[in-house]
Formats: sequence, structure tokens, C-alpha cells
Amino acid sequence: VVAKTHNLVAFAALLTATVYYPPDKLTLATLILALVANVVGSLLPDIDQASNRLWDLLPGGDGLGKILKNIFLSHRTLSHSILGIYLVYKIVYWLLPKLFNPNFVDYQTIAIALLIGYMSHLAADGITEEGLPLLFPLKIKFGFPPIKSWRIKTGKWFEKYVVFSGVIVYLLGLILSKWMVILNILKMNIG
Ligand SMILES: [Zn+2]
Repeated sequence: VVAKTHNLVAFAALLTATVYYPPDKLTLATLILALVANVVGSLLPDIDQASNRLWDLLPGGDGLGKILKNIFLSHRTLSHSILGIYLVYKIVYWLLPKLFNPNFVDYQTIAIALLIGYMSHLAADGITEEGLPLLFPLKIKFGFPPIKSWRIKTGKWFEKYVVFSGVIVYLLGLILSKWMVILNILKMNIG
């Protein structure tokens, strides 16, 4: 699934979680950082693809670099697995409290927004032909529907037109049906 679709799916997932489980408090800083974290989370699993060239520049290309590359970089391995989710969860909860002053931002909300983005990425990739190595390092791949030929091809017309517009329609429906809830979250919690 391409980045644009991942961003949209992640936002739809975040908004869904927000209207059904509204936060008790939400400062403007937290809201903005949560939106950014959601985008970051939605792209993070594909860092294996994006960073390929960076890893090539590492010294010792034959040794350590190659081993690391094999672990992290062949597309859709660790970053597209349950182990990957767990590691990101651990890193995020360790890192965010160090980055942000808890008096101004609620790092838990930001962490959840990032993880929602991350998991929505895996869910979206799960409907593609390639499937997901959820149990990495085991090589079994999972997908929905289970029959591979029924799944979509990444970046092709079905994703671009049917999946993308489908998510837009879902988002609009959610906003229209829950606009009072959304308004209240914005009104009561900011300012
Ligand atoms: Zn992916």
C-alpha cells in the first residue's frame, strides 16, 4: 500500500478511536503532536524500504551492515510483525517522556496516536497480495482474505480508486454522524 493511502487510513483509524474513546483532556500541543505522530506511525513500518540507501552507506558493508540489512531491511519483515509493534511500543514509551515536558503535552495520547498509525499500516498491508509476516522471524505470511489472489495489488487501480475513495467515504460518514462528539472534543479540551 502506498504512503498516501497509509496516511489516510491512519487518520481514519485515529479519528475512529477518538470519537469512541474521547480523551479526558487534550491541549492544542498534544493534538498537533498526536496528528504528527499518527503520520509518522503510518509511515514507520516502511522505513525498511525508505532507508535502504542510507544503510548502504554504513561502513563495513560486508559485515554488520549486511547483517542489519538482512534483519531489518528486506521489505516487510521485522517492521511488519507483532514483534515489531512490541519494539516500537517499547521505544515510543521510553522516548516520548524524555522528549516532551509532561506539563505541556500528554505523551500517552501521542504514543497511542503513533501506535494507531503503525497498526493501521499493517492492517492496510494485510489486504495486499504480499501479506504480512506477523510472526517474524517465522516466515509465514498472513493476509485478508486468506486466499492470496483475492487480495489487492499495492499501488494499482483498486487501491488508488476503490480503497482510497472508500476510506474517504467512511471518514465523511464518521465526521457527519459524530460531528457533535468531534466538536465537543475540540471545544471542551482545547483552550
Ligand atoms: Zn508496509
